[in-house]
Amino acid sequence: MNVPARTLRRLAAEYGTPLYVYDLDVARAAHAELAGSVPAGSHLFYSLKANPFPPLVGALLDAGARAEVCSRGELDTALAAGADARSCLYTGPAKTEGELAHALSRGVRLFSVDSPTDLARLGLCARRAGVPAKAILRLNPSAYPRGAGLAMGGAPSQFGADVAWVRDRPGQFRADGVELAGYHVYVGTNIDDTDRLMDWFELAVDAVRQAQEALRLRVEIVDLGGGFGHPYARPGTRPAWPGLDERLAGLLARLPGAAASPGGPVVAFESGRYLAGGCGTLLLGVQDVKRSKDTRFVIADGGVNVLGGMQGLRRVPPIMAEPLPLPSAVPAGDGARDRDGEAVLAGPLCTALDLLNQRARLPGAAPGGLLAVPNVGAYGLTAALVAFLGRDAPAEVAVDAGGVRAALRLETAYRPLSAAPHGVNGDSTGERATGERAETR
Ligand SMILES: *Cc1c(COP(=O)(O)O)cnc(C)c1O
Repeated sequence: MNVPARTLRRLAAEYGTPLYVYDLDVARAAHAELAGSVPAGSHLFYSLKANPFPPLVGALLDAGARAEVCSRGELDTALAAGADARSCLYTGPAKTEGELAHALSRGVRLFSVDSPTDLARLGLCARRAGVPAKAILRLNPSAYPRGAGLAMGGAPSQFGADVAWVRDRPGQFRADGVELAGYHVYVGTNIDDTDRLMDWFELAVDAVRQAQEALRLRVEIVDLGGGFGHPYARPGTRPAWPGLDERLAGLLARLPGAAASPGGPVVAFESGRYLAGGCGTLLLGVQDVKRSKDTRFVIADGGVNVLGGMQGLRRVPPIMAEPLPLPSAVPAGDGARDRDGEAVLAGPLCTALDLLNQRARLPGAAPGGLLAVPNVGAYGLTAALVAFLGRDAPAEVAVDAGGVRAALRLETAYRPLSAAPHGVNGDSTGERATGERAETR
């Protein structure tokens, strides 16, 4: 985030706090760096899950990223932001017929599938829609590197199909109406050095090789996922990936059809947090500073309703936001006398769990002052408990070339509803796709 403090103060005055500010140039720079760190010709997907803020999605698409989406809402956001449906990847372990029909009607043709049932359902929807569809099979590797933190593979998982399953019953992984055209492995996440990242990619390539021995597909695309890390809600810069490009090139030579060679399959990577993390800053207003027993409390106007709500899901690290006080006209408060201004940083919600940091360092924080939480461009607002306690979502502004490019506010509101004529997810109740059905062929 390169936006100067005086601009942040002006934006806070104009739009109120809490306020998310995104510097689109930082997102573009992260994209350029990642694109330069993987072999030339690789596809780079932006995972909208990290942050679907439309101007940010638009900036990353313009920079050359493709959209990885896993809901109707994310898909529509990506398309409205300028994504070409033909270059989108639709993922998720429970895609409904309603979602698939919607995606196909909007022009999406590439899906990641997680099981024979998922594959058959896609084939069914594509046949109904009368359009061709391709799928990459998400694999769950049989092992994962030691020392791995949050591992979305190797362990039992709702994502993908175990490699052992694919090898035991390859006949299940076929369906009319959809061509299986490659593989998808997304395992490690939030990794910040090349060695550990390579451990995961080696694992992914092994999984692909093992599955391919059994399935013998005409492989067009191999999506190796990502796991590119980024500091979260604390100062820091995005990691660099020295040597990654060359080491990946060596590894990819082991893929079926020698990926990344001329005429070989396309290799793809995915990232949410690395691409978006650094561009976002959350501005909070200090509402109160007080003592309880021996503890100093700094109470801000935003808490887990705007940041860190997903810490319980381990998608974001335990929230220990390290905001920097923005210099302001407000006189320094009592904390200036404290050794290092230690305080519990609490939010405004009526729950004792609304804490952004149990041991923040906030010397001089005083009511009326501003705090700036850096590196919250990914897993910020939409990963928070936005609807909890009915507070308005904060404004979000995109800053570009020194000016405000867009200012938006996410709405959460009740709408009257008449009984849904279809299934809960808008599914028709017609023919059902099941793994069993696929197997009898
Ligand atoms: C969440 C997710 C990502 C993005 O993860 P980051 O850690 O934000 O890079 C990419 N691919 C898939 C399939 C995901 O579920």
